[in-house]
Amino acid sequence: MKVIKFGGSSLADDIQFRKVGAIVTSDPERRVVVVSAPGKGVNDPVKVTDMLIKTAETTLERGVDAGKVELQKIIDRYASIAEKLGVPEVMERIGADLAGLLENADLSHPAAFTDCLKAAGEDNSAKLMAAYLTSLGYPAVYVDPREAGMILSDEYGNAKILDKSFDLLNKSLSGIKEIVVFPGFFGRTESGRLVTFPRGGSDITGAILAAALKVDVYENFTDVDYVYAVNPKLVDHPTPITLVTYREMRELSYAGFNVYQEEALLPVFRVGIPVNIRNANNPSCPGTMIVSSRPVDAEHVRVAGIASDKGFTSIYVSKYLMNREIGFGRRLLQILEDEGISYEHTPTGIDDMTIIIRSAALKPGALDRIVERIRSELHADDVQVTVGLSLIVVVGEGMKHAVGIASSATAALSQAGVNISMISQGSSEVSMIFAVNSEDCDKGVTALYNELF
Ligand code: ASP
Repeated sequence: MKVIKFGGSSLADDIQFRKVGAIVTSDPERRVVVVSAPGKGVNDPVKVTDMLIKTAETTLERGVDAGKVELQKIIDRYASIAEKLGVPEVMERIGADLAGLLENADLSHPAAFTDCLKAAGEDNSAKLMAAYLTSLGYPAVYVDPREAGMILSDEYGNAKILDKSFDLLNKSLSGIKEIVVFPGFFGRTESGRLVTFPRGGSDITGAILAAALKVDVYENFTDVDYVYAVNPKLVDHPTPITLVTYREMRELSYAGFNVYQEEALLPVFRVGIPVNIRNANNPSCPGTMIVSSRPVDAEHVRVAGIASDKGFTSIYVSKYLMNREIGFGRRLLQILEDEGISYEHTPTGIDDMTIIIRSAALKPGALDRIVERIRSELHADDVQVTVGLSLIVVVGEGMKHAVGIASSATAALSQAGVNISMISQGSSEVSMIFAVNSEDCDKGVTALYNELF
């Protein structure tokens, strides 16, 4: 059995819905279909999820009547797809569901209201897909995640799965004879309130169902043939990745590979279910397989890929005899915790420590407060802040066994004239991280790709 998930670009219009229908019905093992909300398409420049967020904002700012104007555009979009697919009758259900969101709206809790709207994109996509598959002669049922046991933590827009959900989902889905069509992106809290995952969260739903049902493979259809070893916007025809481990994929998604939501690896990683990233526009292409382990001897690729991400700030702290001062690191990190900031990396020397954080995590005035406290409470000799940094991450399980990758990588960066502000190799040896000035980032990635591939 397979769980098969389709992203928004695969559901943007009736033509894409037809492709999905053909993919699902071509393999009897494709029993559970997870859908996103309709995304950007040839004639539709805006994702339905973004239209729903705008509807929520408009309603909260200017009232229900103003919100209804935005909502109508979404109803029209579903109606056009349903009409062209030959299932216009499903609009009775979808139209009533969408209209009900504003009619019964409780605006006293904006985050809860916004999550209810956001979830409606996938929810109605699933109702439409179930009606369409059934019309093709393949009986399919829409399943409501809240009733099926998708129980999540109480965090609007950032919910996490609770362990008990896996058993509940297994029980409620196992006995269904029809094809299950399950909306991605949301579930409910223990007390019954609707909550959504972070953006891109339908990937997480698919991974949870794959783990709950212990399927053979989780197929994740998107709009690219493969995950590539480097950003295709930087390099022409980059090397496709055919096989990659969960750990490698996690490192690549961390630093800007957006093909697969980074939180969506955890549920499948725990139980070792392979994830197959494939292209809904080119279903005969085998795509990228994400698995537990892969061969890393000299015959196979040692470096899986090179990723990069902008928008980092580093805080360098030095103090003579830091290595002998018990609790220094804890107190330094406590200052960040007090500001609600999670750190990304902490390369250290004997008497110094650098903390790298995402600049977006800094609230106004936070940097000044942090520096002031490091000086006054920790009595540091020197504190230096660098903004506008990028991280380039070279990822590969095989680096552990190969000699000389670091030297050829640093040589490539120096030949390209890229100054390295920091190098860090995690203890796992799966990745090597270079911090560089953001203006040099793309140049650095290209130089590393040319050298290592
Ligand atoms: N529709 C949601 C988003 O745009 C979730 C998803 O597509 O995975 O983020």
